Amino acid sequence: MSIDRIQTCDIQVIQEIECRAGCGACCIAPSISSPIPGMPNGKPAGVRCIQLNDLNQCLIFGLPTRPRVCASLKPTLEMCGHVHQDAFTYLQDLESATSMA
Ligand code: SF4
Ligand code: SF4
Repeated sequence: MSIDRIQTCDIQVIQEIECRAGCGACCIAPSISSPIPGMPNGKPAGVRCIQLNDLNQCLIFGLPTRPRVCASLKPTLEMCGHVHQDAFTYLQDLESATSMA
C-alpha cells in the first residue's frame, strides 16, 4: 500500500515552567475582573495589582482571598518567555486581542 499523502497536524506543545521570581508581569499587564482585596472591582490592564509588593511577589499568595483566576494561571514558556518584558508584551497583546473580541 502506498502512502499518497502524508497528513500533518499541528500539535501545540504547552511547556509549563516555574514562575520567574520577581517578574510580576501577569499581575500588571492584564485586566482582572474578579475582586482583589483592596481592589474590589478588580484591576484594569496595565495597572499594578495592589497586592504585588516591591519585590513583585503576591502578598496574598496561598490565601483564600487571592482571586481564583490568579491561582489557575499556569506559567508557560509561551506566556512567560525568558524575561519580564517577554511576558509583559505577550500579556499586553493578549489583552488587546481579547478586549477587541
Ligand atoms: S508572567 Fe509568568 S513568570 Fe511572570 S510572574 Fe506571571 S507566571 Fe510568573
Ligand atoms: S492577587 Fe496576587 S497573583 Fe493576583 S494579580 Fe494580585 S499580586 Fe498577582
